[in-house]
Amino acid sequence: MPKKFTKAEIVEFYRRLAESRPIPRTELEYINPFTLLVAVVLSAQATDVGVNKATPALFALADTPAKMVALGVEKVESLIRTIGLYRTKAKNVIALSRILVEKHHGEVPREREALEALPGVGRKTANVVLNVAFEEPTIAVDTHIFRVGNRTGIAPGKTPHAVEIGLEKVTPSQYKLHAHHWLILHGRHVCKARKPDCPSCVVASLCRYGAKTVPDALIAAQAAGPSARKPPARSAARQ
Ligand code: SF4
Repeated sequence: MPKKFTKAEIVEFYRRLAESRPIPRTELEYINPFTLLVAVVLSAQATDVGVNKATPALFALADTPAKMVALGVEKVESLIRTIGLYRTKAKNVIALSRILVEKHHGEVPREREALEALPGVGRKTANVVLNVAFEEPTIAVDTHIFRVGNRTGIAPGKTPHAVEIGLEKVTPSQYKLHAHHWLILHGRHVCKARKPDCPSCVVASLCRYGAKTVPDALIAAQAAGPSARKPPARSAARQ
C-alpha cells in the first residue's frame, strides 16, 4: 500500500500543476452556459476535439434552448453525426432544451438537482457545468481524473464517485475551483492512459505510481546492453 499524501505534499502537488498551467480552461468550445451544457452532453464517450469539429455549425444555428427546440431532432442529428451515439445525443439535446424553455425560462439552472434531472445529464456533466459556467468548486471525475487520482495516490477509489469524494476532501480550498481542469489536463496530456509521460511530469517526485516510465533514450541504452554504454576501448595500434 503506497504511503498516503501528507497535507504539505498535496499543496505542493497542486502548486506544481498550477504553475505548469496558470490559466486552465476546458478544451470544449462554447459560447454561453447553454452551449457549454450541450457540448458536455455531446462529449460523453467522445473526444473534445471531435465535439469541437461539430459544434460551431450547431451553435451558429442554435445558441439558446428555444432555437435548439426549433431546429428539431433531425437537423441536430445531421449536424452532429460525426460524434458517437449521435442519435441518442440529438434526442437528449432537444429534450433538455425543451425542459429549459418550459421549466427554467430558457436558462441553465444553477442547482445540481435541476441539472441532473435533464435528459443525458449525469453527475459528471452537472459538475462540469457548475464549475465552468458558474464557478462552483466542484470536481467532475471523468476517465482521466479517475486515472490520475488512482495512479498518483492523491485520491484513490474504486469508482469515479469515490475518487470525487476523496478529491473533495484532500484538495486545498485555494485550488478547488481549478482542480478539475488541472487534473483533467494532466491526465489527458501527461499522465496518459497507455503510457504516462513520467520523465516530463512535474509531480513525478510526489507520485506514488509504482510503474513510472523512463526516458526513451534510457530504454534504448538498456536494450543495447552494457557494452553499448561503455566507452570504446582504445586499439593497441594507437597506444
Ligand atoms: S509520474 Fe507518471 S504516473 Fe505519476 S502522475 Fe506523473 S505521469 Fe502520471
